[in-house]
Amino acid sequence: MDINRIIRVDMSTGSVSEEEAPERYRLLGGRALTAQMLLDETDARVHPLAPDARLFIAPGLLGGTSVTTSGRTSFGFKSPLTGGTKEANVGGQLGHRLARLGVKAIVVSGASQDGWQRLDIDKDGARLSSADDLGGKSNYELHRELVGEAVNSRAAATIGPAGEHRMASASVAVTDPEGRPTRHAARGGPGAVMGAKGLKAIVVSDEGAPRVVPGERKDAFRQEGVKFSKVVLDDPRTHNLSKTGTAGVVKFVNRENVQSMPTRNHRKGSWELADGISGQEIDRLGQERGGKMLPCMAGCIIKCAILYNDAAGQHVTTALEFETIALLGSNCEIGPADAVAELDRMCDDIGLDTIEVGNAIGVAMEAGVLSWGDFEGAKGLLEEIREGTPLGRIVGNGTAHVAKTYGIDRVPVVKGQGLPAWEPRTLKGMGITYSTSPQGADHTAGMVTARGATPETLMKQSRHEQLVMMAIDSVGVCQFSNALPGDMATFISNRFDLDYEDEQVLKMARAGIEAEREFNRRAGFDSSDDRLPGWLHEEALELPDGPSIFDIDYELVDKVWAE
Ligand code: SF4
Repeated sequence: MDINRIIRVDMSTGSVSEEEAPERYRLLGGRALTAQMLLDETDARVHPLAPDARLFIAPGLLGGTSVTTSGRTSFGFKSPLTGGTKEANVGGQLGHRLARLGVKAIVVSGASQDGWQRLDIDKDGARLSSADDLGGKSNYELHRELVGEAVNSRAAATIGPAGEHRMASASVAVTDPEGRPTRHAARGGPGAVMGAKGLKAIVVSDEGAPRVVPGERKDAFRQEGVKFSKVVLDDPRTHNLSKTGTAGVVKFVNRENVQSMPTRNHRKGSWELADGISGQEIDRLGQERGGKMLPCMAGCIIKCAILYNDAAGQHVTTALEFETIALLGSNCEIGPADAVAELDRMCDDIGLDTIEVGNAIGVAMEAGVLSWGDFEGAKGLLEEIREGTPLGRIVGNGTAHVAKTYGIDRVPVVKGQGLPAWEPRTLKGMGITYSTSPQGADHTAGMVTARGATPETLMKQSRHEQLVMMAIDSVGVCQFSNALPGDMATFISNRFDLDYEDEQVLKMARAGIEAEREFNRRAGFDSSDDRLPGWLHEEALELPDGPSIFDIDYELVDKVWAE
């Protein structure tokens, strides 16, 4: 079947219409598609929360198929956090269901004049209806109500209170295979954009929809899928992820010669209590409490999602990931694992990006709003966000907003977005990615963790990894599948009955990045925005072989996209 329906939802008039995707979008999906549509359809100078701003939601090119991890979904929009282009990428059950209904993209414009609305999509079409009964509800309650027992055919994408308050760190929560709201399109504030439109929930049911089966080359497609799964399963990185999830890296990055465990608002790169929030400790607790490793979407054979129970064996969260642990944990000096898990659950429930909020709370601690390690204080701040109090709005609007409010000059952001855990002073390739990604500080934009390589090599690696990640986010597979351009070219060829080469995958990715960069240019960005905050050049981390700062020449950094 073709996946070529574009569903347009005008929240101002309450109308829903459909059209066939134009031919020029045929080989675009996920991030490349939302980036191009954002550029084509949105004035880059628009206020991100204005009715004229648009929200684009798209599964990847392989959505709905049997390729492992291929059910990811892209949310594209102008970010209320960065003021530029944004793509927030999410797993969960939404992408496959949209693709099975033939949906290539949903475009949401306008703003509701009639209270909260919900959008239902199923085999009979797409409909808007009043959702005032859902207003004020948090994500766990929402997903129980909207998905409930129908978890095998239904998925929801919802905003919690943070999105209702239009906060710049608000996420969109997507249903996981157990019906919980633990997967989040988090970065850059998609929840705020959805909230500004008055759209509380999107509910997708693929009951009765046909399976997505490629055309003439379906046998080759299936065989390549089996081959790819075997490569993924044999990869040692998969074994580690399947055992301790991304949390498994905590002990490694906390070592004194890596120092990539942000501590005390990124002042230090390791924390003496990090063992208590490590993947190994979480694994040990899980064995006592009935924890387990789960897929975040049907068909993922890696299963890196940690289901974390409390001491009584009750579910707390299924999203205890490295970045969350680092930003809400060591960066705020909060532990042990039970405490971080509770904060994580609150973020999922309220609908918040854990990276942004962890950074924002770290800056609030630096400002003396609460003390380092104050777990109860951090919970209190999250409750203030839920309630939309003035202090809650300050923190919920992100790291830079907190810093500005309290006059803090050590601001861990690039293009207004909070720094992930991967440390640019020791892993300098990450600094190049954070500087040059059109997305702002985003570890998923292009991971370069090599140490000891020349600056020139790191610059080239950053460019290559950013292109590969654009391709991965566009075909809609998970980065942890480690799909190579050749894998993606083979799948696209067999999926669409054409002969696609590795170079075309990278060309498509480059065009996607250029669409994002062009949007940012039109929004007023220039090369001065492709810079890390000054303190990363001045405050050294003390490594065994000497102090380390981010010291790569920006003339070289600027070559990432100049060449
Ligand atoms: S590897 Fe992890 S994040 Fe990726 S699809 Fe599987 S469970 Fe989700």
